[in-house]
Amino acid sequence: MKAARRLLAEAREIVVISHERPDGDAVGSLLALSRSLELAGKKVTPVLVDGVPARFQFLAGAEKVVHAVPQGDFVLVAVDCSDLPRMGTPKERTTRPPDLNIDHHATNPRFGRINLIRSDAAATAEILFELAEPLGLPMDAGVATALLLGIVTDTIGFRTANTTPKVLRVAAQLIEHGANLAEVYERGLNRQSLNAARYWGLGLSRLEHDDGLVWAALSLEDRRRADYPGRDDADLINFLATIEGARIAIVLVEQSERKTKVSWRSKPGVDVSRLAAQYGGGGHEQAAGAMVDGDLTSITSKVVKEANSLLGEFTGTGT
Ligand code: AMP
Ligand code: MN
Ligand code: MN
Repeated sequence: MKAARRLLAEAREIVVISHERPDGDAVGSLLALSRSLELAGKKVTPVLVDGVPARFQFLAGAEKVVHAVPQGDFVLVAVDCSDLPRMGTPKERTTRPPDLNIDHHATNPRFGRINLIRSDAAATAEILFELAEPLGLPMDAGVATALLLGIVTDTIGFRTANTTPKVLRVAAQLIEHGANLAEVYERGLNRQSLNAARYWGLGLSRLEHDDGLVWAALSLEDRRRADYPGRDDADLINFLATIEGARIAIVLVEQSERKTKVSWRSKPGVDVSRLAAQYGGGGHEQAAGAMVDGDLTSITSKVVKEANSLLGEFTGTGT
């Protein structure tokens, strides 16, 4: 903490970066920290290699985000990045590890020079709120809104098992600092584009299930037909996780002929981060992801088989 405080206090220029295909916690943590450092008088460049998804563009400072780490002399801070490759390609992120690595993934290999990792936090935004005072970071309504968005999205609206009383207390304090919970819900969590709904429809039309398992595969053809702009699943995974009886939900998104993004969600007691770790991915026990080498069809059958045998370990009926 002391080293982190000194690092930020002495820095003039700071580059803040988060992970590719950014979720709400990535964008919220990035914009909150960037704005707060600016309020503290620093020159700040926020970086997201995939840019800010449309539904998070209402956050203050979203327009300042650039797509690659610039040249120059600066302090590099990573937020919500579970590992270095998730910051982008070496060209986009530079090969230099971050000076400061702030994250809540249990699988984080501590790839920064200084690492502030708390895997009991529900979101990186929660950690940033707690660090604000000790790190000397100012708070205003813009910072508070971005942090609340990170917490609301990572807990899917305070629904995940890691939503502790502390998470709710932090959220309450963020509202006292001027964040508008209803707006954060409405714009950041409950709103989807028409194209995203069509993309969901294509995936849902081929929804499959087997005992405690549900899964759906989204192809590049689906993306094209729905005219969906992202490389992600438009959060379809969180809907599959709500299906009654689903102890594991999986969404597979074709990235190319040889690459497939896999997302896993599970009910407490079933640790899907183990499945993701086999592919060099990571995350949390109840929410994990990995970028897998292989085509959509063969990866789907492989991943489904593995999930079935993981469920078998718990019920004693699997193979
Ligand atoms: P997602 O399925 O992409 O929504 O991600 C679920 C969780 O797994 C999040 O906490 C992510 O940060 C993490 N995660 C997703 N993809 C990867 C990856 N390729 N490597 C490590 N962690 C990942
Ligand atoms: Mn994230
Ligand atoms: Mn997160």
